[in-house]
Amino acid sequence: MVDLLNSVEINTIMKLIRFGKPENEKPGVQLPDGQKIDVSAFCSDYDETFFGTDGINSLQEWLTKHQDECPKISDAARLGSPLARPSKIVCVGLNYAKHAQESGMEVPSEPVLFFKASSAVIGPFDDVVLPKNSKKSDWEVELAVVIGAKACYVSESNAIDHVAGYVLHNDISEREFQLERLGQWVKGKSCDTFAPLGPFIATADEICDPNNLNLWLKLNGTTMQDSSTSDLIFGIPKLVSYISEFMTLLPGDIISTGTPFGVGLGLDPQMYLKAGDEMELGIDGLGISKQKVISYKS
Ligand code: ZN
Repeated sequence: MVDLLNSVEINTIMKLIRFGKPENEKPGVQLPDGQKIDVSAFCSDYDETFFGTDGINSLQEWLTKHQDECPKISDAARLGSPLARPSKIVCVGLNYAKHAQESGMEVPSEPVLFFKASSAVIGPFDDVVLPKNSKKSDWEVELAVVIGAKACYVSESNAIDHVAGYVLHNDISEREFQLERLGQWVKGKSCDTFAPLGPFIATADEICDPNNLNLWLKLNGTTMQDSSTSDLIFGIPKLVSYISEFMTLLPGDIISTGTPFGVGLGLDPQMYLKAGDEMELGIDGLGISKQKVISYKS
């Protein structure tokens, strides 16, 4: 017999935000009309526990009864990264053919992976700090995947079941640290403030086809990157499955899927970020973020 109550699909179309002072953010939801509400009465944070215990569905269900009681969030409130600091940020390099070309590298035959320190995460409108002695800091608009369920040896056909949602990411990169110092790319990817995330996580059901989204970045109002995730060499199911061969992805972890053509490294002459610059970036369905660049101060 069909259980009528359970046969009603829970609508998991939702935008998750975090708001408040750095390190002290509270969870919230951005409603379809743009109003933001505080849901800290439901959970303390969007973290591994939240994502790993079907928090998105439970929150949606809780909201059907409690939405009207949730305090409204002022538009002036600072937005933090829309999820708590993840256990890891796994990045995919050279995942757009034209970007591989502009970087002077081969189109890879399997995904190129590197790590970004999770201490680099900041909110979508926070300032990006040029690291000490940085001469070659660069921008990279990217679609990032938020893991919703522990993924270990996941097949491509089951991969999307392990995705909680999607978020806009600027994978800021110091090219000298990344490419001209010895060892791995991680050095140029992990500086504080090098991972602006947000403004919100769109739950997986909100994004009909994550492999067909326009993404762009403007520097001081000039379009530098303008592409589509349909140009990804390795799509999201492949990436989730592939990465899960090498490590267990935990709920709340981030996979950043790579940047398209148009970074400063690929320009002739090359062009890099300087204090006072402003980056604005966006992806269809994932909103817009904006960061001002400032110098390092001890
Ligand atoms: Zn990147």
